Amino acid sequence: MLSPLVAIIRTCPNSVLPADFEFDFSPAREAPAELQEVALLYWEYDGIDGYSDAVLWTRKTTEIDFKPWAGTIHYAAAAGGVATSSSFDCPSCGEPLTLSSRQTLADARRGKAPECRDCNGTINQRAAAVLDPSALAKRRRKTQADERAQAEAEAIRKQDAIRAQDEAALEQVRRPRSRRSTRARQMIRGSTTSSMRR
Ligand SMILES: [Zn+2]
Repeated sequence: MLSPLVAIIRTCPNSVLPADFEFDFSPAREAPAELQEVALLYWEYDGIDGYSDAVLWTRKTTEIDFKPWAGTIHYAAAAGGVATSSSFDCPSCGEPLTLSSRQTLADARRGKAPECRDCNGTINQRAAAVLDPSALAKRRRKTQADERAQAEAEAIRKQDAIRAQDEAALEQVRRPRSRRSTRARQMIRGSTTSSMRR
């Protein structure tokens, strides 16, 4: 349970502090524009949480459409560009810390001394796999196939809607006629009876 004071601090807008780390993002020129965008969305932040001291990322990773590129968002983000925080140095090469993921920055801020992208190795391999021309070509083909399937589904949906409209219109025309014919029949029957009575 949160104490009332903590609840007040958390809801107070002043609890968003300016970031206390240097940050730079360079989009990867070889990456498609949409992938650079994924990286930008991943790395965008609002500041520091005044209560927990954690970086406040602008959006959750689940809000970013990274699935077409990679199974893991920070692989897609790493392929889209390089994020660096020169507030920290890589313990292996001494260069400003390039970030493998948001977690790398969190670790550095907690004094864990994580390695840069080059020294870590794995992240650059994964990024290269995302940017591999055959992987990109495969993705393009899949996107085109998805778009075609979507267009076909939309066309069928429209045809169905038109057919339903036509049927409804026909029904409208049919119904009064059948009512009229019943009434006419009753009238005829009525007149026959009355004429018979006469
Ligand atoms: Zn390094």
